[in-house]
Amino acid sequence: MLVPREMEPKTRLQLVIRIKVASGDLDWSIPPGSQLLFRDVLDVIGQVLPDTTTTAFEYEDEDGDRITVRSDEEMKAMLSYYYATVREQEVNGQMIEPLQIYPRACKPPGKRNIHGLKVNTRAGSSNNSCPAVTEGLSNNSLKKSSAELKKILANGQMNEQDIQYRDILGHGNGGTVYKAYHVPSGKILAVKVIPLDITLELQKQIMSELEILYKCDSSYIIGFYGAFFVENRISICTEFMDGGSLDVYRKIPEHVLGRISVAVVKGLTYLWSLKILHRDVKPSNMLVNTRGQVKLCDFGVSTQLVNSIAKTYVGTNAYMALALGRFPYPQVLRPGEVLNDVIQKNQGSLMPLQLLQCIVDEDPPVLPVGEFSESFVHFITQCMRKLPTERPAPEELMVHPFVVHYNDKNAEVVSMWVCRMLEERRSQQGIQ
Ligand code: ATP
Ligand code: MG
Repeated sequence: MLVPREMEPKTRLQLVIRIKVASGDLDWSIPPGSQLLFRDVLDVIGQVLPDTTTTAFEYEDEDGDRITVRSDEEMKAMLSYYYATVREQEVNGQMIEPLQIYPRACKPPGKRNIHGLKVNTRAGSSNNSCPAVTEGLSNNSLKKSSAELKKILANGQMNEQDIQYRDILGHGNGGTVYKAYHVPSGKILAVKVIPLDITLELQKQIMSELEILYKCDSSYIIGFYGAFFVENRISICTEFMDGGSLDVYRKIPEHVLGRISVAVVKGLTYLWSLKILHRDVKPSNMLVNTRGQVKLCDFGVSTQLVNSIAKTYVGTNAYMALALGRFPYPQVLRPGEVLNDVIQKNQGSLMPLQLLQCIVDEDPPVLPVGEFSESFVHFITQCMRKLPTERPAPEELMVHPFVVHYNDKNAEVVSMWVCRMLEERRSQQGIQ
């Protein structure tokens, strides 16, 4: 059902949501009988405003005050308010107004729609430039559209001409990741571009090794859309995650980390079922989005690609512990030294030998008891065991009380946390 039964109005009308954007209003018709979730609305807004990250939207109450919607709960409240006004309009014989919503983007207003995208839709009319939105988009059709996208993109149609590179999302080990617009599908992608001076033969080998990525189909693994070589660089196109990687979030609360851990364990288990060993599990290779999904990326499926990159390795080997929000081996740092300064001084890496020695010689770090739940402390202790034979396998981790406790499929928790963090970041950027 479109909304829970108790809230569904006695009306034959289908719900029309009018998305108010600077470039024009866009009407989205939702057929009766569809289920509508908060993240569906964000998805549609994402199609209307592909250049912005939207984490919430607003509607106006009868006094014209804007009310923010950030969750399914708040959306239910909005819908019941809307249906009450619809009933009033029906009783008074008035025309039924669509439900008007105002997307709230995570970027400062000055930066919105920098590419001048236009949505030219008149109220109530259909718009061919964005069919998924105007054709009455239900949860199912959203799934269909992303499956179709995967097909279009993976069908060998991925090429440089169809891609417009936009912002830089980050630099890593040998490559740069861009937010990019795929013109034929109208989708935003993340494209990792790695310069590689290698022979044509090796290029072919890498392409065939990457083939396995097309087979990866898990909600815990980043979607792969294709790869191509142009001159001396490879571009790897993947799903764009609007929450970015976990390394920029620093200290993450336990109830969020619980859900993240579940996704990571499930992702690793899935990779293992395809005989893929990740080899680079770290916060910058765990991505999140405002739908509350957590996905792994950058696993070493192509030995040749890994070897080719290794020649130019300048990556970082030091990263924060997400529960503590600090480097877990403080003894590597001299008194008063800050991790980031040391990393910068060493051009991205933290004295590898010193760190290695520390990992080998010292006891593994433990979470401070009292600050975290017993099951979390135990979970980390098990994962940090030095002897590989003593470290639990993914299937053992799946039945660990910490994982069992948070394996509740509650994407809302991560979704709300990501949205809140992005909003905080946005307001901090606004202040600066
Ligand atoms: P390393 O190369 O050692 O793995 P890294 O993971 O930080 O380091 P990259 O993999 O090149 O480097 O990624 C750079 C940054 O780009 C990441 O930290 C992340 O913030 C961002 N990024 C990567 N992939 C995506 C994606 N699919 N969606 C959104 N942001 C992404
Ligand atoms: Mg990475």
